[in-house]
Amino acid sequence: MLNYEGGGSLLLRLQGGKFAEDGSRAARPCCAMERDIMSEIIKTDVVIVGAGPTGLFAVFELGLLDIKAHLIDILPKPGGQCAELYPEKPIYDIPGFPMVTGQGLVDNLLQQIEPFAPTFHYNEMVEGLDVLGTPEAPAFRVRTDGGKVFEAKVVIVAAGGGSFQPKRPPVATIEAYEHKSVFYAVRKMEDFRDRTVLIVGGGDSALDWTLNLHPIAKRVILMHRRDDFRAAPHSVNAMRELVASKQMDLLIGQIAGLKGEDGQLSAVSVKTADGVSDIACDRLLPFFGLTMKLGPIADWGLNLHEQLVPVDTEKFETNAPGIFAIGDINTYPGKLKLILSGFHEAALAAQKAHRYIYPEKKLHFQYTTSSTNLQKKLGVA
Ligand SMILES: Cc1cc2nc3c(=O)[nH]c(=O)nc-3n(C[C@H](O)[C@H](O)[C@H](O)COP(=O)(O)OP(=O)(O)OC[C@H]3O[C@@H](n4cnc5c(N)ncnc54)[C@H](O)[C@@H]3O)c2cc1C
Repeated sequence: MLNYEGGGSLLLRLQGGKFAEDGSRAARPCCAMERDIMSEIIKTDVVIVGAGPTGLFAVFELGLLDIKAHLIDILPKPGGQCAELYPEKPIYDIPGFPMVTGQGLVDNLLQQIEPFAPTFHYNEMVEGLDVLGTPEAPAFRVRTDGGKVFEAKVVIVAAGGGSFQPKRPPVATIEAYEHKSVFYAVRKMEDFRDRTVLIVGGGDSALDWTLNLHPIAKRVILMHRRDDFRAAPHSVNAMRELVASKQMDLLIGQIAGLKGEDGQLSAVSVKTADGVSDIACDRLLPFFGLTMKLGPIADWGLNLHEQLVPVDTEKFETNAPGIFAIGDINTYPGKLKLILSGFHEAALAAQKAHRYIYPEKKLHFQYTTSSTNLQKKLGVA
């Protein structure tokens, strides 16, 4: 349970999941080191943890309400899963966009939030959270692993599945080939043009990339440990048609070893029902799923349910007043892990955030189509 002390001046520092009262006063640093940290504190209205699609859209909804935000992400770029895992894949269920690629959506979101000039902090993992305020007037200090310190009245956790890591196939030498000829995501399809690509896995990623890379690769070989696929039936059917017309190969087996030099793959040893043999290839794409690590957020004292943060569906606030969780990171009855869910959640969280940031101001609901006030903020009136 996240604790607040009345009065708002006593600094409670959360370390390793437990609060330790360090006795220092937030407003009066007690030592030289603390004074140095205090002088570098970045003050803002809202800190958004995660610059995925949900975090990006939250900037827009907050901006319409005159709320300034800083976004922090472990990755070196914005876009979360869309930019990291499927930048070139088409998305078909974004309202108003019959089709947009993962990166296309991110680019559009970045353009949409430009008027609000958010500040991005990349390659920084949010680690620590100190409670400075009270439940009625929350305030937080947020720390990153890179040593940045922020103070904000509201924290919006838009951390998706946390820091996501691809699961490695159990092959001893694989690390030597990673990012050279073994990849866990397709960032640029051109890297696979005229290559012999061995794709391993039976889920949507394996099947989707089999179908997407087949037209440009020299040859695509799909390997799965059994002849039964979890992927969408239409993808499986399309793959089987390509195999039947000898346009690609399907192998039932497992990776036994890698062969090559200086990180450049020349063959993969595979174990099938017929024994072990070498498959010549120069690209390997294993899709063994992702481990989603909630990471340091798990130690903040927020209620958790199966590595997700429970929220109410009125304002998407956690059990800690002033800390919201939106997008894939949250859970509530009926939750769908869709981008559009995150957008809706961002809009409602922003409304409640406004009450914490401007307690004296009344919020009037306005449309962007008809409000000159909103249009001025967007720079179009
Ligand atoms: C292959 C694939 C296809 C998909 N297709 C669709 C689709 O067609 N339609 C659809 O609606 N959805 C789709 N999704 C799901 C969609 O991508 C997610 O619902 C969406 O990305 C969630 O957005 P988010 O901003 O909540 O989280 P994310 O996109 O996961 O972004 C979270 C960000 O938070 C950062 N982060 C995490 N922890 C920290 C920390 N401690 N400090 C700093 N940064 C942190 C991460 O680095 C990440 O950038 C698909 C997903 C996949 C994998």
